[in-house]
Amino acid sequence: MNQPAPLPDRRSWAEPWKVKVVEPVRLTTREQRDAAIREAGWNTFLLRSDDVYIDLLTDSGTSAMSDSQWAGMMLGDEAYAGSRNFYHLWDAVREYYGYQYIVPTHQGRGAEHILSRILIKPGDVIPGNMYFTTTRLHQELAGGTFVDVIIPEAHDPASEHPFKGNVDLEGLARVIAEHGPERIPYVCLHATVNMAGGQPVSLENARAVRELTAKHGIRVFMDATRAVENAYFIQQREPGQQGRPVAAILKEFCSLTDGCTMSGKKDPLVNIGGWLAMNDETLYEEASNLVVVFEGLHTYGGMAGRDMEAMARGIVESVQDDHIRARIGQVEYLGHKLIGWGIPVVKPIGGHAVYLDARAIYDHLPQDQFPAQMLAAQLYLDSGVRAMERGIVSAGRDPATGDHRYPRLELVRLTIPRRVYTQAHMDVVAESVAAVYSQRANTPGLRMVHEPKYLRFFQARFEPL
Ligand SMILES: *Cc1c(COP(=O)(O)O)cnc(C)c1O
Repeated sequence: MNQPAPLPDRRSWAEPWKVKVVEPVRLTTREQRDAAIREAGWNTFLLRSDDVYIDLLTDSGTSAMSDSQWAGMMLGDEAYAGSRNFYHLWDAVREYYGYQYIVPTHQGRGAEHILSRILIKPGDVIPGNMYFTTTRLHQELAGGTFVDVIIPEAHDPASEHPFKGNVDLEGLARVIAEHGPERIPYVCLHATVNMAGGQPVSLENARAVRELTAKHGIRVFMDATRAVENAYFIQQREPGQQGRPVAAILKEFCSLTDGCTMSGKKDPLVNIGGWLAMNDETLYEEASNLVVVFEGLHTYGGMAGRDMEAMARGIVESVQDDHIRARIGQVEYLGHKLIGWGIPVVKPIGGHAVYLDARAIYDHLPQDQFPAQMLAAQLYLDSGVRAMERGIVSAGRDPATGDHRYPRLELVRLTIPRRVYTQAHMDVVAESVAAVYSQRANTPGLRMVHEPKYLRFFQARFEPL
């Protein structure tokens, strides 16, 4: 006779919402996926989303909005100037991020463009805790050079440092000494460093960056795209921060910076939008003048009134502790499942994504045969799950030498959209990763057959070797 299993002694948590509207997803056959990936040049960015089953390409603009946000869409004030929704957005940013002025933009890179144009002169140097693709490109287009000052642990996928996004303070001091503060318009501080695997920055480190830069009169601008997720990790991991509301931690973190760029498509739970924020009135005057040239009037910046309303409401929802715990809890659920099976992933599990270590998985492939690009393609072929390369293709070429940049991290990112997929979807993803992992020995590399000039990872095409 079978004995019943023992009663559980754990208590599960669940998402703080229930589903009201559903969107069907489509299962494809292996033959259909074979044809689709070939047509897409082995680049998951070039797949049609109709051919994708579970879409983990990005958490950018892929969040599910709440009923309150959808209701807000009906309250859009589409006046050309001075829309009431702009003021709601401004109020939300002031209340939760604490900055005095905001300039709305169509998305994060619009804010990066304006900030780079205003602050960077040719020959300037911008230190930051690891590059981000669009951020660095705008810095370079303005004549600046990005210098990485992240701690060395960030480049080691196996390091369990709790704040792998931290700035290397000695490294930053060296960059300041070498170039002089007058060549450094600002330090770019990423909250939860995307390219390092979604790794956070501690409050203590942000304070130290503030002290060091203040001595030299250098500004700090944050990439606040995932600053709420960063605040949650501080609450979980930093001594003395347990039990503090995420919203309070977020505001303190922001107070250590002079302003931020924001992609509303991430933390703020909307499908499009962004903003640039700052405390300096003169800088605001310049930015609100320039936004008119590139984005739209300074009270809409490329967004409809309804988009600004949805984002104002999304900001309030995004800083609630139960929301952010469930959001990151789902990412950790997937990550810990893979760790349990011995599959190489970046540790600790990041805030928005699980990063597969393609260098370790395809250890027979040299980096210039694009192991992460191939791993993402294999995952799609296996199950229709779409992921993204974050390795040599994303790193691009060095503008000075024209060679590939060879980043130490060669990763595939499984990015989890907010409030979109269930735990059962995460199980399907984990099982597909396991299947691809078990077939790793026979997988060939790729060669690049088409290479765009800017941000090549979006549109490059490949063929198997
Ligand atoms: C997405 C992202 C950006 C750019 O924002 P967009 O809205 O895509 O233009 C900048 N920084 C980080 C860290 C991001 O993840």
